[in-house]
Parts: sequence; structure tokens; C-alpha cells
Amino acid sequence: MISQRAYIDYTLDKRATLSALFRGIVNACDADPYLLLAAKFHGVRVERSCPVCKKKSLVELRYTYGDQLGQFSGRIKSLDELVEMEKEFGEFRVYVVEVCRECSWNHLCASFLLGDGEFRKPPRKQRTLEDDDWVKR
Ligand SMILES: [Zn+2]
Repeated sequence: MISQRAYIDYTLDKRATLSALFRGIVNACDADPYLLLAAKFHGVRVERSCPVCKKKSLVELRYTYGDQLGQFSGRIKSLDELVEMEKEFGEFRVYVVEVCRECSWNHLCASFLLGDGEFRKPPRKQRTLEDDDWVKR
């Protein structure tokens, strides 16, 4: 199983956002189109229901960030991919974001560090579609 370090739970912050939301102070149901698309294609269903609309439309996304990830920092990863990455990288942080596909509620749930603790240089930059000139034309 994944060994999580430096775990940060954002439940309290989420409660504060929720209570402000119900008092009409903030609008947290504002997931942008990219986040909603990511939720549609990469979201992992969770059992709990949405804290706002109470529907079972809540999914979680796991974003990975870290210097050692190089150009791949910021990508969404599945649980299986995280298990693999844990062996390939020394350290990177995972941010778990919950998104409601019904009402667009979104919030950071937790973040934690993964990796085997061994420092590695970031992977050499690989050519991607964005690097190819014909895409820009
Ligand atoms: Zn909802």
C-alpha cells in the first residue's frame, strides 16, 4: 500500500468554506470547465455524497506536483499510477481534490507526500505534441 508522509487534511478548511457557502458568502460551486472535464474523464467515484447538493456525484482527482517530476509535474494520476510512481520518484506531493459533477462544488481534500525518499534528477525533457511546430501553426 502507499506510504503517505506529511499528510495534510483540509477538512476544517472545507467545513469553513461550506458554512460560508450556506450563509451565501462564497461561491464554491465554480469548478472551471477544465476541472469539470478532468472530473468527467479522470475522476474516481467516492461513496460519500456531495456536501452541497447531497447527490452521489462526487469524484476525486489526484494531482501530482514535484521538482523530480520535471515536465510531468501537475498531471492527474490514478491510484495505480501513484503506486508505480512511488517506486520511480524520491518525493512528490499529491493533492486530492473533490469535484461534484452535479453542482460543480470543488474543494481540496488533502495532500501528502509520496516517493521512496531517494533523490533523483528530473527526467530529461521529452518531446511532446506542444513542442511540435505544426501544432502551433
Ligand atoms: Zn453537488
